[in-house]
Amino acid sequence: MTFSADFVHETRPVRVVFRPGASVTAVPDEARRLGLRRLLVVCGRRGESVARAVAEALGDACAGLHAEARMHVPVEVADRAVAVAREAGADGCVAVGGGSAIGLGKAIALRTGLPLIAVPSTYAGSEMTPVWGLTEGGVKRTGRDPVVQPRSVVYDPELTLSLPVPLSVTSGINALAHAVEALYAPDTSPLVSLMAEEGIRAMAGALPRLAAEPADLDARGRALYGAWLCGACLGATTMGLHHKLCHVLGGTFGLPHAETHTVMLPYALAYNAPAVPQAMAALHRALDTRDAPRALRDLSVHLGAPRSLAELGLKEGDLTVAAEQVTGRPYANPRPVTAEAVLGVLRAAYAGREPSVSS
Ligand code: NAD
Repeated sequence: MTFSADFVHETRPVRVVFRPGASVTAVPDEARRLGLRRLLVVCGRRGESVARAVAEALGDACAGLHAEARMHVPVEVADRAVAVAREAGADGCVAVGGGSAIGLGKAIALRTGLPLIAVPSTYAGSEMTPVWGLTEGGVKRTGRDPVVQPRSVVYDPELTLSLPVPLSVTSGINALAHAVEALYAPDTSPLVSLMAEEGIRAMAGALPRLAAEPADLDARGRALYGAWLCGACLGATTMGLHHKLCHVLGGTFGLPHAETHTVMLPYALAYNAPAVPQAMAALHRALDTRDAPRALRDLSVHLGAPRSLAELGLKEGDLTVAAEQVTGRPYANPRPVTAEAVLGVLRAAYAGREPSVSS
């Protein structure tokens, strides 16, 4: 960032509580601070035991536990959760889990205006954004609305101990992708750049440690700290080509969210690199490398993550359709998003080739 550049930075009112080992007790405190007395706790099936502990800790302030969260928030799942919240007379909601559970909490907030407390258990970052998503008839709609931004976020690294290593790695790289694109976003700011660089440094440093020792609480804490910063970057900026590619690959072809981010990131970055020297300098500092796309790929491959879109189940014939969709309604991006260029990026990722920067 040069200071000939102008920028806008908006800070949203979100309280972040980072409390290792104490999320269950922190949630009732946060509810009291917000003046909430009847909270519906939502989670996915796998997160039910922690969510139940949160519900018990809330005591009389718990209006019920709804363990029906599903990936990408199908609209019928959202409808049911809204009805449950209304029937229970809830005055707030607590979402415990990954992006899917927090997504369901946001859907309730969007329809009812109820304040949301988020207790994340992955590194996806949804808790730090005002972005909601709903899927209907296989099509995912997203939007931004301040009403869905969690009022309070409780981070507890102990909740991530059960996150399996493969999911920890891909979820962590999903977080890195937010910070990478924030570094060259049209609405980035000096504060976003600092958060992005530090978030990338923390997450990239933590992932090899937690993959080697999944119970290493210090590594888990650093990863979650990185996830917070990367999520804050996502919430503050507009994402580019990489996120558009992942949204098309997930939305149209059903590819898994975090794994798709993991495979695509080095290739999307290699494409954008020549147009974003300052972002690359920040990445090189954060990753201690002179070749960030290759360092990101090496990181994920060494930790056993999928290497190619082919491995994720995409068919070669899908590449042209995906490229058309990406170029049809592109996101703001520092390099022009042409059909030929996008197809080149997708082909490299499909084959899992070494990413190479070319201007
Ligand atoms: P997820 O929430 O679907 O979780 C993935 C799997 O991990 C699920 O089976 C879940 O039950 C399980 N899980 C979660 N935490 C666990 C834990 N600690 N231990 C064991 N298992 C655990 O996936 P995700 O990657 O966290 O989120 C992806 C979803 O979030 C997508 O729908 C994506 O679009 C959305 N998202 C939204 C935003 C936003 O700003 N709106 C940001 C990031 C992601």
